[in-house]
Amino acid sequence: MTLELCVLASGSAGNASIVRAPSGVLLIDAGIGPRTMAERLAGTEVDLDDIGAVCLTHLDRDHFSPTWAATLLRANVPIYCHVNKVGALSARVPELARLIRSFDSRTFMPLAGLTCEPVRFAHDTLGSHGFVFDGFSYRIGYATDLGHVPCAFFDRFRDLDSIALESNYDPQMQAASTRPEFLKRRIMGGRGHLSNLQALAALRRLLDRARRLPDHILLLHRSQECNCPHLVRRLFETDPRIASRLTLAHQDERSPWLGRANRSVYTGEQLAFAF
Ligand SMILES: [Zn+2]
Repeated sequence: MTLELCVLASGSAGNASIVRAPSGVLLIDAGIGPRTMAERLAGTEVDLDDIGAVCLTHLDRDHFSPTWAATLLRANVPIYCHVNKVGALSARVPELARLIRSFDSRTFMPLAGLTCEPVRFAHDTLGSHGFVFDGFSYRIGYATDLGHVPCAFFDRFRDLDSIALESNYDPQMQAASTRPEFLKRRIMGGRGHLSNLQALAALRRLLDRARRLPDHILLLHRSQECNCPHLVRRLFETDPRIASRLTLAHQDERSPWLGRANRSVYTGEQLAFAF
């Protein structure tokens, strides 16, 4: 068995994903409460007690819910949080202080045999972090709330086995929405979220430079008000390298398990894009 990714919730009403490794289960963000997560996990063969560590991208309410405190304390689950947010997290939920493990720009190991390399993103004032998980001969990149795509993304997310990237809004729907102007500016101003076009451009550039193509491309954090799944599919499926690997994450529905794909039928395609 190798690494597998499953998104349980994705969007501004709550984000949570799990990485399943032979050595345990890692939770990326805890933006839905434990009760909702337990329901969402039904049928996956994973339950809340299996969670061995939590990695937080940042502390916005849709990425961390304080309702997790009792569950995490009971099982002594370490919470990995960037060093510049440790103060804010302990201030918000003081009883969690003993579980917090800070990370900086260096790779750390949240579960045995699984390393996590943080990648910094410019989201709001304190920023957010993406992660590259590497272990058991599989590598998964997870990037949400980017603001804009930094150069580091193209180096660190290259040649991964699975890639999860946010594709938050359609610019025309955003402009036409009834949201206040300050909010539109925050979202679109380079420290908020990626549009569909920005996410597609980033993926295409990443795949142009790839020596091999990933098993899966997963799109995260789609706005319910300013985006549309059909439009996202139509847009991303214009690139055949993306079309055959595309999964859309949803707010209220979990994704399939995404892991090693049997891609022997795509060998020709893999070679065609190799250099
Ligand atoms: Zn968010």
